[in-house]
This record gives sequence, C-alpha cells and structure tokens, in this order.
Amino acid sequence: MSEILGKPIQFLKNIGPGRASILASELGIRTYKDLLYFFPIRYIDRSKIYKINELFLATAEVQLKGRFTEFKEIQGKRNKRLVGYFEDDTGMIEVVWFKNFKWITQTFKTGEEYILFGRLSKFGHQVNLVHPEIDKAEDFQKKHALGLMPVYSSTEKLLKKGITKRVMQNFVRELFKQTGPHFEETLPESVITRHHLVSKSQALHHIHFPPGLNELAKAQYRLKFEELFYLQLQLLLKQVHRKRNIKGFVFEQIGNYFNRFYKEILPFDLTGAQKRVIREIRKDVKSGRQMNRLLQGDVGSGKTVVAMMSMLMALDNDYQAAMLAPTEILATQHYHTIKKWSDQLGINTALLTGSTPASRRKIIHEELGNGTLQILVGTHAILEEKVKFKNLGLAVIDEQHRFGVAQRAKMWRKNITPPHILIMTATPIPRTLALTHYGDLDISVIDELPPGRKPVHTFHIYDHERKKLYDFLRKEIAAGRQAYVVFPLIEESEVLDYENLENGFKRLQAAFADEHINIGMVHGRMKPQEKEETMNRFKNGEIDILVSTTVIEVGVDVPNASVMVIESAQRFGLSQLHQLRGRVGRGAKQSYCILVTDRKLSDEAKIRIRTMTETNDGFKIAETDLKLRGPGNIMGTQQSGIIKLKIADFVKDTHLMLTARKEAALLLQNDPQLGHPAHSMVRKVLKDIYKKTGFWNYIG
Ligand code: ADP
Ligand code: MG
Repeated sequence: MSEILGKPIQFLKNIGPGRASILASELGIRTYKDLLYFFPIRYIDRSKIYKINELFLATAEVQLKGRFTEFKEIQGKRNKRLVGYFEDDTGMIEVVWFKNFKWITQTFKTGEEYILFGRLSKFGHQVNLVHPEIDKAEDFQKKHALGLMPVYSSTEKLLKKGITKRVMQNFVRELFKQTGPHFEETLPESVITRHHLVSKSQALHHIHFPPGLNELAKAQYRLKFEELFYLQLQLLLKQVHRKRNIKGFVFEQIGNYFNRFYKEILPFDLTGAQKRVIREIRKDVKSGRQMNRLLQGDVGSGKTVVAMMSMLMALDNDYQAAMLAPTEILATQHYHTIKKWSDQLGINTALLTGSTPASRRKIIHEELGNGTLQILVGTHAILEEKVKFKNLGLAVIDEQHRFGVAQRAKMWRKNITPPHILIMTATPIPRTLALTHYGDLDISVIDELPPGRKPVHTFHIYDHERKKLYDFLRKEIAAGRQAYVVFPLIEESEVLDYENLENGFKRLQAAFADEHINIGMVHGRMKPQEKEETMNRFKNGEIDILVSTTVIEVGVDVPNASVMVIESAQRFGLSQLHQLRGRVGRGAKQSYCILVTDRKLSDEAKIRIRTMTETNDGFKIAETDLKLRGPGNIMGTQQSGIIKLKIADFVKDTHLMLTARKEAALLLQNDPQLGHPAHSMVRKVLKDIYKKTGFWNYIG
C-alpha cells in the first residue's frame, strides 16, 4: 500500500510526463500520495434537480434535467449568441453560449435528455443559464449517482492543459481504483474512539467523494483533527526536547537588587497579573532549565516593569542581562526608563544601537567582557558577533513580532549555556496562533491593565471634517494635554508619504498659526539625535502636537498625551492601529483616538475602522485581524516557517485545535517515548514528517 502511494503521479492513467510536470509545478502534486491528500476546496450538491418553474427559489448554481427543443443563433447589439431552448415538464429556460456554436449544435441534439449544471444569471428580467456543463442524463446518472461533487482548486495553466474539474475528479477516481479501499490508520485506536472519529480509509474516500453532507462533515472532522493532532504533537515534542536537553542557569536567590527595587523604587503596586507573571518567571529561572517564555500583554499593561524585575533576578545572581527593542526610539526609551531605576540601585547600564559612536562602543565591549556592565539595552546592534558578554543570564526581547526567529537564535549563541529568554509582545496573538507558532514556548499573559485606566474613545472622521478636529485639539491642549498626529509610511511610496507628512505638518502649523501651540515632527529620516531631542521635548511638554510617521508605533510612553490622530487610517493594518492607539490612555485622563480617512474605503478598511471604534480589546482585534489577513501576514514576513494547514483553519477550528493539543499532550504523558505498540503509527507518521521537513532545530 505505502509503495503504491509513493509512485510518481505520471504513472496514473491519463496523466503521463507532460501533465505530471504541470501538476507538480502548479499544485505540488508529485506522487499518488500527494493527489490523495489534495482535498477538494468545495463541493457541488448534485443531488438536487430543480424544476424550471421553481428556479426563482434557487441561488447561484443549479441543476436541471430536460430536453432542448431548438437552437438559434441570435445577433445581439455587440455580438452573436447561441440560444438553446431547454424544457422540462414545468417550463422553459434559455441556455446561452457566446462561442463554440458549431461544436455545440453538433454535439447536443434536440429531443435527447440532458442534465445541465451551471450558474443562473439574470438577463434583463429573465434568468438564463450561460455555458452550463452538459451531460447526457443516462451517462451522468451511471457515473455520478448524483451526490456531492468535489471541486479541486485549479489554475489557468491546468485548464489550458485540459485538466478541468472533471478531469481532476477522474484522476482521483482512478487513484482510488489503484489503491483499493483500504488505507493505513494513522491515529491511535484510543484517540479514534474517544473522539468518535471515522477511520482513515473512510475519511479519505468521503473527503473526495462524499455520499452525503453528513459523511462529508465526519470526514472533514477526522482529517482536521489528525492534522492538528500531529501539529501539536510536534510542538509538544519540541518543548519536551528543549526542557530535557537544554540546561539553563540557575538563579538561586532573590537578592538585594530585586528586593530594593520592589520596596524602595517601584512607584506603584503591581497588578495581580504582573505579580503572577513574575512568579512564573521566577519559577523558570531557578528550575535548572532554560526559560523560553513569551509574555503577552496588551499595550500599556506594564510589561517593562516585569522585564526590569526579571533582569534584576539575573543581576542578583551575578549574571548580566540584555534587553532588545526593534527600533532606536524604543531602545532609547527603555534605556532611559531602566537607567533611572538602575542609577538608584547602583547598577551599570548602557545603550547600544546602530548610532552608538565607536569610542563609546569600545568601552561597552570592554565592560561587557569583564562583567562590569550589568544591563545592556539596545537594538539589533546587540546581536552582532563582536558583542560578547561575560555571562549573559537573561535576554529580554521586546515587541517580538519585529524580530525573526533567526535573530532569537543569535541571542542564544551568546553563551555556551543559553541565556534565559523572555519575549514580550504587545500584539496580542490569538490563542490558536500562539499555540502553533509559539507552541514550543511557555506563555504568560498580563490580562489586566493598571488601575484607573479609562478605555480610549475612538472616532472616525472624514478628511473634510478637519475643522472639527482642530477645535477638539485646541480644547485638549488648552486643558494641558498633548496629541500625536501620525501619518502612514509605507515603503513603496516613500517619497509621496514623506510629502504627505510634510504637508500635514504645514497644514497644522497653518491651522494653529497665531496660537501658542507648539508643533514638532519626527520621522525615520532624521538623525537619531534630532529624533531623540524632539521626543524629549514632547515628553517634557514643550511640544503640544507631535506629527510623526509610525516611528512612534511601538512602546513610546508619554502619559500626558491624550489624543492620537491617525491620518489616512485606511492604510494601516488593524494591529498597527491598535498599537498606535495604545500610545494614549496611559495616564488617568480620558483619551481619544481619531481615525481620519477619505471617503473611498474598501470593505476591508471599513471593517478595520469599525472594529477600532467598537472595541479596545486587543485580543478581539487580533482575532478580526486574523480573519481579515490570515496567519501568514500577521506573523510578519520575517517569521520563517509559518505553518500551512491543508484542511484545518486557524480561525474557525480554534476549539478543535485545543482538543487536539490536549490529546497530543495526553499521549506524550502516557507514552513519552512513543514506544507502545499501539502508538507505532504515530512514530511512523512523525518519521515521515521529519523526513520531509528535516529534523527541526529546536530554536525555531
Ligand atoms: P507596555 O506593556 O505597553 O510595555 P509599559 O510597561 O510601558 O506598558 O507601561 C505603561 C505605563 O503603565 C507606564 O507608564 C508604567 O509606568 C505604568 N504602569 C505599569 N505597571 C503599573 C501598575 N501596576 N500600576 C500603575 N501603573 C503602571
Ligand atoms: Mg512596551
């Protein structure tokens, strides 16, 4: 059996080398097995035959049974068409063709019984059928038994080579003829029984040729379950492997730094969620195994303090700590926050970014090497080969979605024993995605905002309503608040975007010309020093309105800012909008986010804007984002190895994903080595997967 599935697809009847190479390049189908696992994208219900007089009830696709009474060529205004008059015992409908007249009139005869299948279209106030599929009634019934017909995804090229819907169906039918009805079971009996799954053989047959909707649903459920089960099993194995094999530094004690910070410096009480997360981290770092923890917390939930306290655990045990941020602005800001605290504790802290001067760099390298530098904050610059620590105990990576997997891996190699890793992300990741993409990490969630925060009020206005906006800004600024005005910057149209930014800046200056309102601007083309100066002036209140590109997107913390205006908001993605909005609402005052767009909004943009005005909940927003864009885009292009699912769906099958994960965990718990004979098929499937994908590198 498995031998036949390994056979190259060209040997299947009617395929041959030419079609085989097209099937491979267009659909990735190379072997019998690939075809077997090439599931239909949808099904056409051919069990129902409509009567012509009930067509008004029908939606798009219909099937009719009857006879042609006449074919007639008709000259229209622009082109000729061929009309066939098709009758059943209840009425008549026109069937229309725009080409192949000769072939049609020669092939189809009046008076013979046919089955037509096609899409209804409106023609004036008449419905007709354009270019339907036509079968002789007799043949058709023999062949298809009028059930659900599979439709496989196709491409132009395939159609050109004559590989139509029909032909694909025939390939699969032929495949089943050769393989026979039986396929090896790939899930343990116990799992099948517990979840009432149909057998592998039945699932494979019914997914391609379902006898009915019920059977189809069962086949789909079984195959989705299997897919998610093996996905989760791989992730869990990865986690087990890491925990078993990768030793971590042991931070024995909570010492002076941590305690003094907590008692003397921390300016507020930690939220319950912050405390819980710190306990989770504490447990990890003293366990003797390397921590690899993802910390999720919505914008403003207070991740920085958690990072600081984690780093202090390292320092208390004579290790160094590092904190990485994706942008210079953010790194600088973290540096200032952390330095303020460190100075009070007598901790030596430095900032390393792309623009750190060589002379300063030299000192940093030296102090890192001899261990006198205790905390290093910085950008990607930290990852460079020549940056060597004496004993890096913990690396905190902020805003992980900007970093790729490869960069995470680089951090590991800074020591022989890898440092503990804490990844912080403010982009809430839907649970399904977290479980797959970060399935091998432990996850902590800060699901509580510091007390006193008021949800940000979000409004949408059109750009001709700017006057209202200016009045509003005036009022807020008069009350002592500050505002951001953000413009999109999308690389492909960079020049234009900078123009927009400049124009927006000038427009604001003009609008507030005779008033005591200071307007500043930051963008990526400025020198880091200028950027920092402007940011500082905004921070200490000298600037009232900060016009900027998305350089301020992540992490900037100016609690007095209460208005976030987002220009051309339709051009931003949902998570970006949410991040931007997170820049306000950080103090106790009521804050506002105003989305400005033009009138031409795509449907998707409308959903994004509406979502923003309706909710502040980062997880809800992430779910919507996932629905709109799919998982690949959410994780960003830098994230290699995005998992593609064949049949299950990250959004729709969340529940099933959790069930499958539980089942996989249970299996590993009962049989960690997968050595039990009842689980031999699991070992076999995993072996096949690894043969294909290569044994993972456990850093991913
Ligand atoms: P983020 O999770 O977005 O990185 P920050 O760490 O920047 O959030 O924290 C946002 C703001 O909330 C900061 O001004 C911080 O000082 C403040 N903050 C953090 N934790 C608390 C708390 N427990 N109580 C009050 N304010 C807090
Ligand atoms: Mg932050």
